[in-house]
Amino acid sequence: MALIVQKYGGTSVGDAERIKRVAERVVGAADSGQRICIVVSAMGHTTDELMELASQITPEPFGRELDMLLTAGERISMALLTMAINELGRRAISFTGSQAGIVTDTTHGRARIVDVRARRVLEALEAGNIVIVAGFQGVSTEFDITTLGRGGSDTTAVALAAALHADACEIYTDVEGVFTADPRLVPEARKLHAVSYEEMLELSASGAKVLMLRSVEYARNYKVLTHVRSSFSDNEGTWVREEDERMERAIISAVAHDTSEAKVSILGVPDRPGIASHVFRPLADEGVNIDMIVQNVAADGRTDISFTLPKEDLRRAEPVLDQVRGRVGARGVETDPDIAKVSLVGAGMKTHPGVAADMFDALADAGINIDIISTSSIRVSCVVRANEVAGAVRAIHEKFHLAEEAVIREAHPATVTGQLRALNPEGTAPGGGL
Ligand code: ADP
Ligand code: ASP
Ligand code: MG
Repeated sequence: MALIVQKYGGTSVGDAERIKRVAERVVGAADSGQRICIVVSAMGHTTDELMELASQITPEPFGRELDMLLTAGERISMALLTMAINELGRRAISFTGSQAGIVTDTTHGRARIVDVRARRVLEALEAGNIVIVAGFQGVSTEFDITTLGRGGSDTTAVALAAALHADACEIYTDVEGVFTADPRLVPEARKLHAVSYEEMLELSASGAKVLMLRSVEYARNYKVLTHVRSSFSDNEGTWVREEDERMERAIISAVAHDTSEAKVSILGVPDRPGIASHVFRPLADEGVNIDMIVQNVAADGRTDISFTLPKEDLRRAEPVLDQVRGRVGARGVETDPDIAKVSLVGAGMKTHPGVAADMFDALADAGINIDIISTSSIRVSCVVRANEVAGAVRAIHEKFHLAEEAVIREAHPATVTGQLRALNPEGTAPGGGL
């Protein structure tokens, strides 16, 4: 009998009516003969509201207590959904993350799953229950309650799917799948039929919060077939899966944007060996996640180093930066929170020159200045001003004709000329670049 893990996000369980609708969908799936394990998020904006409540008590709550508070959100929705399923005459049972055997490390607020001891969930499924698990939470190796970071219910679902050897993990959310850009920003964005784990990793790392990055890492590592789809319709969504060499692939898959990072510049750093290590080692030791780094050309034996980091890591980074400035003899440190990152992702980039150049053209034509650039083999990212990011996403989406399915698809292995013409309908040769 097939075993499916389904995860329902906050909007999908936003009120009692929606919870009842989810219960009907779950019972429908169970009636069709599948074994069903459900993972739920907290209702609507509950997690934000609980965080706000904590901030009214103290600006810096202990991680342990904040986690204890936040996990209450998912407990509420798991119990209500279980009641709704029972009400429809089906046997269901709810488990907290801890009861479901989600074991994590001890890092409160962004714990990593180290083990899933799924025996209790399996036994409950085998006894004929629909099992409902609270997402976003686990129990640490020190027996404290932990949370997995924002969006963490996705990771609970994929990790459970891996541990249960489920046939698929369905992520039910408030959009129809993974789109060529955030559909809230680009209404003409197109739903993708499938994306590879690698592309989804780059998209999630670049701010497409439809799947939490860690969940995609998990899906790739354990080859979990993941289906992102809407809880408000029966339409097929987007499959996140292994790349199949025979399948049709897009040169470019999607544009992502991220407004959650800030830029730090260390000014007037002496230009000598070892400086970068003096700057970044202490930040790494403090657990600060550095993303893009640029070092400007030296003048007078001094240089500026700029990098981006999550805004939420700034408070932890500031005292470290202060010490670093003194130690390396820099002239100063500047922090700029008003930045955003726009990224273009596509597996076909590896074999197609000119993609980066076309992206820079799109930004230039829109009059948008680029501050920092970074690339991987299947991604180009640019830092721009925060207030220009929506325009940047739209300009790039338009430039690569991402709303139009037919134009950008290639058969693999490719004959290149046709696709390049497709990317450049005016017939101009694409420039160098990536
Ligand atoms: P949930 O509460 O179901 O976990 P999230 O808010 O975490 O939902 O993720 C879904 C949201 O992700 C969508 O509402 C959409 O605004 C956003 N999003 C960003 N980029 C994309 C994309 N490329 N495709 C689809 N959704 C995206
Ligand atoms: N409720 C948590 C959050 O809002 C986890 C999740 O929804 O995935 O981040
Ligand atoms: Mg989410």
